[in-house]
Amino acid sequence: MTASRINHPPADAEWIHDMESEDQPLMTDVFGSLTFTGDVMLKRLSEDVYKKLQQTMQQGLPLDPAIANTVAEAMKEWALEHGCTHYCHWFQPLTGSTAEKHDAFLSPDGNGRAIARFSGEQLIRGEPDASSFPSGGIRDTYEARGYTAWDATSPAFILRTGGHSTLCIPTAFVSWTGEALDKKTPLLRSIHAVSKHAMRILQIFGTDKGVSQVITTLGSEQEYFLIDEEFFNRRPDLQICGRTVIGAPSPKGHQLDDHYFGAIPERVMAFMSEVERRLYELGVPVMTRHNEVAPGQYEIAPFFENANVATDHQMLMMHILRSCAPHHGLACLLHEKPFAGINGSGKHNNWSLATDTGVNLLDPQEETHTNMQFLVFVAAVLRAVDLHADLIRAAVASAGNDHRLGMNEAPPAIISVFLGDMLNDILDQLERGETTSTKKGGKLDLGARTLPQIPRHSSDRNRTSPFAFTGNKFEVRTVGASASVAWPNTVLNTIVAESLDFMAGELQKKAGEDPTPQKLETVVKTVLKEVVQRHRRVVFDGDSYDPKWHEEAKKRGLPHLRTTVDALAALKTTEALNLFAKYGVLDNRELRARVDVLQEQYNTTVGIEARTMFSLINKHVLPAAVRSQTELAESVAATQAVGVECDATRAQLQERVEMITELLAATEAGREAEAHTVSSADRQGEHIRDKLVPAMARARAAADALEMVTPDDLWTLPTYTEMLFMR
Ligand code: ADP
Ligand code: MG
Repeated sequence: MTASRINHPPADAEWIHDMESEDQPLMTDVFGSLTFTGDVMLKRLSEDVYKKLQQTMQQGLPLDPAIANTVAEAMKEWALEHGCTHYCHWFQPLTGSTAEKHDAFLSPDGNGRAIARFSGEQLIRGEPDASSFPSGGIRDTYEARGYTAWDATSPAFILRTGGHSTLCIPTAFVSWTGEALDKKTPLLRSIHAVSKHAMRILQIFGTDKGVSQVITTLGSEQEYFLIDEEFFNRRPDLQICGRTVIGAPSPKGHQLDDHYFGAIPERVMAFMSEVERRLYELGVPVMTRHNEVAPGQYEIAPFFENANVATDHQMLMMHILRSCAPHHGLACLLHEKPFAGINGSGKHNNWSLATDTGVNLLDPQEETHTNMQFLVFVAAVLRAVDLHADLIRAAVASAGNDHRLGMNEAPPAIISVFLGDMLNDILDQLERGETTSTKKGGKLDLGARTLPQIPRHSSDRNRTSPFAFTGNKFEVRTVGASASVAWPNTVLNTIVAESLDFMAGELQKKAGEDPTPQKLETVVKTVLKEVVQRHRRVVFDGDSYDPKWHEEAKKRGLPHLRTTVDALAALKTTEALNLFAKYGVLDNRELRARVDVLQEQYNTTVGIEARTMFSLINKHVLPAAVRSQTELAESVAATQAVGVECDATRAQLQERVEMITELLAATEAGREAEAHTVSSADRQGEHIRDKLVPAMARARAAADALEMVTPDDLWTLPTYTEMLFMR
């Protein structure tokens, strides 16, 4: 294949088809590549430098700074060939989005001219002003110095925006004092912590040969809404808050389940294929697309990767989704709950552990009851979730996610684990002290002669569980659609590292040096039995929506943290501070700072939503309602003037006046709650939870009731029906 064909793939599908008949083409060959990886690196770097870089990328060995200049030069040449004039250090501050500061490759040559220059030092370290990013009090505004540091384990890429190309270098972001100011640094630290203790388990089982690290794998399924851009532009609440703060329900929601997996509308398909093409170029391996449950809701899912790269790719995915939508006259909504009463959007976080030689450590294999190593890993996760369910909940806490978790929607705010029949059966056996068999799924006979018999999984699926074992990985469904997956995975990795540390310690203590295989097996079964007995209460395979489960969970002592304010408290305990410090993920100051930022974000977000709501009520709802009241009044007066009784219309008018009175009263109460400020951010959060949020609910109810009775020609905002059903 020639280089020009690689870089400029023709758009027609036939060409792709031709390519497929050749020897298994790489996707990057088909779509072109804008990442500095694989072939691109191989072609541009000497074998020696390439090998060293690979050692860092694949085996997690420390980066050799001596290669930085060579790599920088090669990256620059490659970027210039792709039309880049600038590079940027691309990082993930605590705002939750990505940040980039562009610098030109230009450098004066001392003779009044400029040359293109990009040094190893520029690649390795950047120095953005840190003062305007949230630091949770770690930095004062006048203490501005911050650094970005090259993360060589995540490929550099070229981002095309507005017809311009920029070389983006994934980086960590720390303050001058060395404290993490971003989401990547603690994620990387947590990945190392898991690896360290998972390796100990492998050593105990003697399966560590040739393995240099254990990696955390991650595939996150992204749900999103698409609406017509015109409607988006006419809804200030969507523009400012990402969600509708008022809006009466459409007569049709997702009751008929006719959207889920339905035929993808033409315009949406065009959008999806542009998104996929651009993501392939950026090395994001997107696999799956389909309609989701709610009208106007869709999903995109990648193939899993190592968690650090997957996290960067997740951020890119959200960026590309948002930025491609307007090309198709659409707006992409990533908020957790853009429309009240309609299914919200999450991000299913599929998580597992694998050796760098490619063995999935959460793969149960055929005879699971004999697979003691797998059972140790699963038990470690169970134990972690049971001990730290509150931290898992806190890791996904945000104003947006409060509308999903804790409301009558999947997943619930009670964190439990679904294991399925096969694993539960083995846990029973472990509790009895002997493991003798593995339940098999068998074959499914479909009863029609022309259909094949298909193999059946050994367990059914469960859609309502917040933390489900799905065959060979855990699927964490609590993560919000707009969130970065970095923090939830940092927390998950940290609690699992602690649990693996505990398991390894117990096994080593009880088995002693060099145990015989028999002795080891006995010890493993003893430890597993203890862990299962103690922590099995967190397992729940039933319907998590069922109110009966909420009572049962309470009896079992499982925490139920409904709101962000309740959940964040879990991250402030001494136990949490010690845990994150012990595994080297965040020191006490860093963790405190992070929680402060999350609290501030919650307070600020709800404040903005409240002000947006009251402004919409004043500028849209009230004027429309008052006009319609006037119409009714005029109608009553005119009808009576000609001597005709109109009691029904008069009653309508009376009711309208009362509804408007309630709207005014509710808005006034809401305004008061919003204006009330308390000295500390924590207390402010409690005030918002207890006073402002209920006040907003009351004002919304009044506004939505009026929307239902206001004539269309007077209603100035796009309605739920329009936004959800116009494709
Ligand atoms: P579903 O959950 O809808 O059944 P899949 O099982 O195919 O879909 O996978 C959903 C996501 O889980 C995909 O992103 C997939 O790549 C990811 N995934 C599969 N195996 C693993 C694994 N071992 N580790 C992490 N993610 C995985
Ligand atoms: Mg799934």
